[in-house]
Amino acid sequence: MSRTFYVTTPIYYVNDVPHIGHAYTTLAADVLARYKRIRGYEVFFLTGTDEHGQKVEKAANAAGETPLELADRVVKRFQALWEKLDISYSDFIRTTQERHKKGVAHLFADVLAKGDIYLGEYEDWYCTPCETFWPETQLIDGNCPDCNRPTEKLKEESFFFRMSKYQDKLLAHIEANPEFIQPKSRRNEIISFVKEGLRDLSVSRTTFQWGIPVPENGAHIIYVWFDALANYITALGYPEEGENFGKFWPADVHLIGKDILRFHTVYWPTFLLSAGLPLPRKVFAHGWWTVEGQKMSKSLQNVVEPNMLIDRYGVDAVRYFLLREVPFGLDGDFSHSALIQRINSDLANDLGNLLNRSTAMVHKYFAGQVHEPGDLQEIDRTYRSRTEAMVAQVETNMEELAFSKALQNIWEVVSAGNKYIDETAPWALAKDSGQRERLATVMYCLLESQRIVYFLLSAFMPITAARALNYLGWEGAPTETGFAWGALKAGTVVIKAEALFPRIEGEKS
Ligand SMILES: [Zn+2]
Repeated sequence: MSRTFYVTTPIYYVNDVPHIGHAYTTLAADVLARYKRIRGYEVFFLTGTDEHGQKVEKAANAAGETPLELADRVVKRFQALWEKLDISYSDFIRTTQERHKKGVAHLFADVLAKGDIYLGEYEDWYCTPCETFWPETQLIDGNCPDCNRPTEKLKEESFFFRMSKYQDKLLAHIEANPEFIQPKSRRNEIISFVKEGLRDLSVSRTTFQWGIPVPENGAHIIYVWFDALANYITALGYPEEGENFGKFWPADVHLIGKDILRFHTVYWPTFLLSAGLPLPRKVFAHGWWTVEGQKMSKSLQNVVEPNMLIDRYGVDAVRYFLLREVPFGLDGDFSHSALIQRINSDLANDLGNLLNRSTAMVHKYFAGQVHEPGDLQEIDRTYRSRTEAMVAQVETNMEELAFSKALQNIWEVVSAGNKYIDETAPWALAKDSGQRERLATVMYCLLESQRIVYFLLSAFMPITAARALNYLGWEGAPTETGFAWGALKAGTVVIKAEALFPRIEGEKS
C-alpha cells in the first residue's frame, strides 16, 4: 500500500497582494511536499485563493470590474509568484470554482440536516473592513481589536452553526491528540479559548451578494469561514468518496499563520465533527516576520517583496534563508544583511566550496572518474556515520516541521566534509603513488557524503540540488533507495563544478 501525505496552505485572499508571509507558508508546504515525495510518499499539496466576500465585492466595484474579474486578475499574481518560487503544488483551488461551490453547498445542507444550523438573528459590533462581528468584551475602546478601526452595532437575520454543542468533543480531541495543534504554546492558547466557552457561530450574511448562496435560501450568502475552510475537502472532490477524498483526507498537516489559528482549530474541526468527517491530523501555526527589526507595514513590505528578493538574490538563496534563519513556529526578523551573510557563509563558502574542491580534485587525480573505495579508516567511518546520522536526524526534524534544525543537521555534515579534506590532505596522498587506493577512498567518501546531502537539499533548494547532483554524476531525480551510503558507483564520471552561489561583495543592505 502506498503511503500518502496531504499538506495544505491557507487559501489566500484575492484582496491582498502576495507578500512575504504568503511566500513563507507556501514555501514551507513545498519543502515538506518535496521531502515526502523523495521519501516515497504519494503527496497531495494544495494551495489556492479565497475569492468571495464583501471586501472583494467592494474593491471590484471601486475598480469598475466584476468581483470575478478582480479575482481572475489577482489570482495570476499568486500563481506567477509560486512559479517563480518553484512551488510544486498538486492543485490550486479557487473558491469561485464550481467544484468548490458544489462541495460547500453540500456541506452546509448536510450540517443543516443534522440540526446543527438554525436561523436566528445576529446582533453585535461589526467591523466592516474586517467583515467581523465582535462581542463587546473584545472591543478595545469601542474599536476593532484586529485593525483598531471603529465598529458599529449591526443586526441581521443569520444562520447559526451550533458550535457550542461541540465544545466538549473538541476539547477531548485536543487533549487526546497532543500533535493536533502545534507548536505547543499555540495549543495551550486554544485550550484556554475553548474552555472559556464556545458561542454559536454566524455562518451566513445578507449584507452582500458575492459568495455562495445558502441552499434554498438565496437571500443568505454562506459566510467566509464556512466557505473558505471547506476548500481543504472540496479540492479533493468532496462529497464524492472517489479517488482523492477517500485517499487523502484527513489532511496530514494544515500549515497556517498564527493569525488564523482559531478558525483552523476551533471552527473547522467543529464543522467536521458535525458532518461526521475525520479531523485533520495536525494544524501548525508559524510565526510572523518583522523587517529590519520593525513590524511589517505597507512601506516596509516593498523592501521584502518576494519577487524582488528572488530577482536580487536568486530563488534558492531566498528559500534557504527563510527556512534556515528562524525556527518554524517562532517570529523572525528579515534583514538583507542577514540574508547576504547566509549566502556568503553557508552557501558560497561552506556548501559551494566543498563541491568545488571535491570535484576539482577528482578531476586532477582521477580524470573525473569515481573509483572503487578501499577499506575505510577510522576517519572515513566517522564521516560516513555522521552522514548516515544526518539522514535520520533530518527525518525526525521534518516530522516536527523543524526546518531550521534539519538544515542545521545538513550543514554539520557539510562542515565535516570541509574538515575531512583538511585532515585527509588529498594533495599529500596524491604525491605518493603507493597511496592511490587511499586517495580513491577519500574521494569516494567526499562525493558520496555530498550526494546524500544534495538528496536532502533537493527538498529545500531544488534547482541547486539538481545542478549539484548533475556535477556529481547522479542521473535523474533523488530516489528513496538512493539515501543509502554506497549508491554512488565506481565508474561514475563527475563534472568539475562551477560556483553554486557567487559571493555577494560589498553590497549595502
Ligand atoms: Zn477590523
